[in-house]
Amino acid sequence: MNAYEMALVQLRTAANYLNLENSIIDILSKPKRELQVSFPVKMDDGRVKVFIGYRVQHNDARGPFKGGIRYHPLVDINEVRALAMWMTWKTAVLNIPYGGAKGGVACNPKEMSKSELERLTRKYTMMISPIIGPYTDIPAPDVYTDSQTMAWIMDTYSQLVGYRVPAVVTGKPISLGGSAGRTTATSRGVIVAAKEAAKAFKKEMEGLGVVVQGFGNVGANAAILAKEFGAKVIAVSDSKGGIYNERGLDVLEVLKHKERTGSVINFPGAKNVSNEELLELPCDILIPAALEGQIHKNNAKNIQAKIVVEGANGPTTPEADKILFDREVMVVPDILANGGGVLVSYFEWVQNLTNLYWKEEEVNEKLDNKMREAFLQVYNIAKERDVDMRTAALILSVGRVVEAMTAAGYFP
Ligand code: NAD
Repeated sequence: MNAYEMALVQLRTAANYLNLENSIIDILSKPKRELQVSFPVKMDDGRVKVFIGYRVQHNDARGPFKGGIRYHPLVDINEVRALAMWMTWKTAVLNIPYGGAKGGVACNPKEMSKSELERLTRKYTMMISPIIGPYTDIPAPDVYTDSQTMAWIMDTYSQLVGYRVPAVVTGKPISLGGSAGRTTATSRGVIVAAKEAAKAFKKEMEGLGVVVQGFGNVGANAAILAKEFGAKVIAVSDSKGGIYNERGLDVLEVLKHKERTGSVINFPGAKNVSNEELLELPCDILIPAALEGQIHKNNAKNIQAKIVVEGANGPTTPEADKILFDREVMVVPDILANGGGVLVSYFEWVQNLTNLYWKEEEVNEKLDNKMREAFLQVYNIAKERDVDMRTAALILSVGRVVEAMTAAGYFP
């Protein structure tokens, strides 16, 4: 099952609970607009390489399209479609006035120099510029893109229109209108969601064993924050593999080790484990924060965590969801758990449009409150309807999107 097929299964599940008409399911199953671009980029050695990129706009019933841009060799149209649909649900779960979109370029950023990445980003921005804009579609970072990528996008877009447009992207450097707290926002939301989930099991974060898959923006910051919230991070991983120490890892030292060696593996005092083994380690909270489809029908029965908090988008397949629900494992779904990123993106956009800037404490307080509120709404639906948290989040979000679509009418 590819990511888009997974997203469609999830949509149909929610549609059943909401008794949606087939025509509405049909509209929501397909993105409103898809753009595929191919563009040449001059590489450092003088060769010209052609890259394929996408921008998929799923739904804008509740506001402008919003969603990240991914650079990864496996980016394809179905992955981008799924990620765009999940953005529609995510902005609706959090009740922020956006729709959902996603973009990506099939490339291997690990093998590219900074100047090659800059040229690729600027070309890609030019190619998608007719459909992005501060009131139409606002990109943000995702896998292997960061604040530097957003700075190039903002600058290229601004040069094209002839004036500075900070609000065209979020996740920018602070010097270009980025928001305080944006870099750690997704992870902070993940840990706030983890804390709320622990409370549902009548537990505090203090001393809970946490395993994190993926040690990038979301995973590394989630590990740091988990420790700050009193939990014990016992294993982390990146694309090369993982490390495990049941007594706990010094996450900041792991970060330095990764900066020095390029990976978390071979960290002194920890045991190397594979990414597959890492998911099945004994722990209280598992945070998948890498890519899609990591927890599937073959390993779901071996997951030992009682709580799975999805830092990544789409890490659990629908078959695995069912197995975990039957085993009473709580999965806090991506569209809720990692919504802190788009939430602070929204705060950044509001700050750009009003030219009033907020302090980090203010951003974090608003983030924590909104995450707790969304968690409780979803949790209450899950209890009332006796469904898993993903279905509950979808009932809430798809319901909100359909309400907006119905109020606006179907035009054109
Ligand atoms: P990133 O590029 O900063 O980090 C990705 C990490 O995953 C890296 O440590 C990489 O080594 C690791 N990784 C890659 N392939 C792996 C594999 N097969 N097994 C284990 N680890 C692997 O990306 P990110 O921004 O941290 O995004 C991670 C996930 O979180 C993605 O699913 C993304 O869509 C989602 N997400 C990101 C944000 C955000 O604000 N950045 C917001 C919401 C959701």
